[in-house]
Amino acid sequence: MAKIYIIDVTNRDGVQTANLGLSKLEKTMINLYLNEMGVFQSEFGFPTTRHETYYLQANLELAEMGVLKPIRLGGWVRATVEDVETAFKLVPKLQHLNLSISTSDQMIQGKFLGRKTRDDIVKMMTDAVDAARQCGAKSIGVNAEDASRTDLDFLIKFATQAKLHGADRLRYCDTLGYDNPFTIYETTRTLAKEVGMPIELHCHGDLGMAVANSLAGAKGVLDAGQDAYINTTVNGIGERAGNADLVATVLAVTKSKGFAGQYKLGNHIKLNMAWKMAKFASYAFKVPIPINQPGVGANAFAHASGIHADGVLKDPQNYELYSYTELGRGEPELVETGSQICTGEYGGISGFKHVMGKMAVEFKDAQEAETILELVRYANVACQKPLVEDELLFIAKYPQIAKKILTLTPLA
Ligand SMILES: [Zn+2]
Repeated sequence: MAKIYIIDVTNRDGVQTANLGLSKLEKTMINLYLNEMGVFQSEFGFPTTRHETYYLQANLELAEMGVLKPIRLGGWVRATVEDVETAFKLVPKLQHLNLSISTSDQMIQGKFLGRKTRDDIVKMMTDAVDAARQCGAKSIGVNAEDASRTDLDFLIKFATQAKLHGADRLRYCDTLGYDNPFTIYETTRTLAKEVGMPIELHCHGDLGMAVANSLAGAKGVLDAGQDAYINTTVNGIGERAGNADLVATVLAVTKSKGFAGQYKLGNHIKLNMAWKMAKFASYAFKVPIPINQPGVGANAFAHASGIHADGVLKDPQNYELYSYTELGRGEPELVETGSQICTGEYGGISGFKHVMGKMAVEFKDAQEAETILELVRYANVACQKPLVEDELLFIAKYPQIAKKILTLTPLA
């Protein structure tokens, strides 16, 4: 029985979004949380972008150390031989790659302005797949950008060539959020049946259907007997109206009528990480969680009206489809209302030792404390807000890795 896997793209689609971004340490924390949650793969960044190099290398070292395991870390590059070769030159330990190219006539004509034909697009993609294999890629996904506006016969031809050249998956990108659950189901079922390869669903929310389309698209792929890989982002953060939200997608797969039980996740996802994950991403991106966000919004389990409150008091299942405890909610949150000492880029040893002491972190000598403090200062330069406990603990535990993550060397 074919299954559904989650590939989270927060560290790629999320961070490339206008007005938003994450520091390299925050991206690392997202990878760590996704791993802890049981997510299959994190699209962890851009291997041809030079300011990502040390971050990507350091995260692959964390994978080797068993810290970021078993999650797969996948890079995103354009489907060109040049990009593939640059990616492996800058990040030699890279194992998983997605190669992206536009496939719709709108984009082939609108972006390449008559310089490329459909055949050229297929050739660029297959050359890039061959190059990735030669460079030692263990898994290769091929992204059909704007797949939902691509002629289906051409999309089948494109995917078939990708498969023939050894690509592992096709990413069906509903780049503009143009599909609806009915159209994406029909398309992905036909595509999976005709091509016979696993398909990723990459859906956007321009028409408010990113999660619904991901589910319907996955159903199409599974009904054709292939594994489906849903692309999500934490809190749905992504280009324009965003991507399929990770928590909402997992809830939809595991709780929705007729889907739950019949279609299954390939990896067990620890939903009880949802609350922590969503709160961290909200803090790191500086984007509040909407009050009505599924599962993690402030109102997701709030009841005021007489009939609803009475119903929930008698039995929560009267008005709640799932329990807040499943999402890791329910613990009271402590907010400091008195004196507050926090870390900062200009912080000193006294305040730092106080903050670390509250978390029961002790240093073996003054030198070690100074070293960690210096790294914390640099982390603050990058994120411009107090670090959270997990970030401080990470730096204290892996100072050498943290140093690498924090290293930026322009024009080297
Ligand atoms: Zn996207």
